[in-house]
Amino acid sequence: MKVHEYQARELLAEAGVPVPHGEMVQTVDAATAAVEKLFSAGASLAVIKAQVHAGGRGKAGFVKLVKTVEEATEAAKFMLSNKMVSKQTGPDGLEVKRLLIADGVDIAKEYYLALTVDRAKNTNTLIASAEGGVEIETVAEKNPDAIHKVPLHPIRGLEAYQARELAFKLGFTGKQINQAVTIMLRLAKLFLESDASLAEINPLIVTPPTDDYPDGQVLAIDAKFNFDDNAMFRRKKIAAMFDPAEENPAELRANEFGLSYVALDGSIGCLVNGAGLAMSTMDIIKLHGGEPANFLDVGGSASEEAVTEAFRIILSDDKVQGVLVNIFGGIVQCDNIARAIIAAAKEVGFKVPLVVRLEGTNVIAARKILEEAMADIPTMVAAEDFTDAAVKVCAAVA
Ligand code: GDP
Ligand code: MN
Repeated sequence: MKVHEYQARELLAEAGVPVPHGEMVQTVDAATAAVEKLFSAGASLAVIKAQVHAGGRGKAGFVKLVKTVEEATEAAKFMLSNKMVSKQTGPDGLEVKRLLIADGVDIAKEYYLALTVDRAKNTNTLIASAEGGVEIETVAEKNPDAIHKVPLHPIRGLEAYQARELAFKLGFTGKQINQAVTIMLRLAKLFLESDASLAEINPLIVTPPTDDYPDGQVLAIDAKFNFDDNAMFRRKKIAAMFDPAEENPAELRANEFGLSYVALDGSIGCLVNGAGLAMSTMDIIKLHGGEPANFLDVGGSASEEAVTEAFRIILSDDKVQGVLVNIFGGIVQCDNIARAIIAAAKEVGFKVPLVVRLEGTNVIAARKILEEAMADIPTMVAAEDFTDAAVKVCAAVA
């Protein structure tokens, strides 16, 4: 699960990581009012930032520094009425429905700091670089030595000595060192205690010297968090930050019915039970020259209602030119699937070829049900086996 930057900043602030003050708004008027408030409280610089679940906003023109209320209003208008297209969004871009209005800060230097899971090493890892602000992928490609990785102990987490060593390596000096160390330790603690899979601050900055901070202040001015979906049952506060407007609507609907659905780019809609069978179904489709339009696992105990919903989702994708049903009835019963096919046919109608391969529990009853319904579903074809099903559906969409 992803959250917005303004929500990630709230989590950071609560964990004691210094973050400039900010406010989330949803209209141009509210943006104007928020900036007026910042300026009348003494700020001379504000930053308007699009809140979408994608990065690369700076380069795309969706992070804007402003010195007047008029500039702020202009920027808010632009962001709320244009889609943001960045390296991370794909060519269609993302609609912006929320903005963060924050105190702008002067920057002396930008760093990168993140915690994530190193799957190859089976450890949580702190990643940091003195080359912050830009995309870390670019640094990794052009200057991999500039990226430091520190593995976390599974029980003790990040230890103070590790954070200090890293702060020195990154080139923090004087009073910046303790500030950076504190931030690293608090970020690592937050990462563990929130079941995050990514906690990224890019950039972590040092301000120019001020009276209060003669060596500059270390601040987080951007934050990106991802969380483990399977842990959200015990992280209610974070789960409540979920923003459905940022999700693929079909995937959201599937989720409500306990279906694992991932939209893909091909033309063959797949309805399968079990992740392993779903994988091999996609493989065999590709083997026979087709491209799957989705990954859909209705699960081991799918109800007729869930399966009907699965068909609704598949058939609402206009890229789908054919559907392959590949069910092995172990716990799920083939006759229930057959009834769901008929219910879906009545409700949404199969205008595209439908190839059905059923095997397992109650398969004889299921075949009988489908045979009797054949007249109502003229695009339906029964397959003998797995390969036959793949060949037939690939031929049907070719
Ligand atoms: P991203 O491009 O989506 O990662 O958005 P960021 O929040 O990281 O902003 C992009 C860049 O804008 C940062 O790397 C900074 O260089 C700049 N920026 C963001 N906020 C401020 C600010 O308050 N003051 C200044 N001077 N620059 C900022
Ligand atoms: Mn950033």
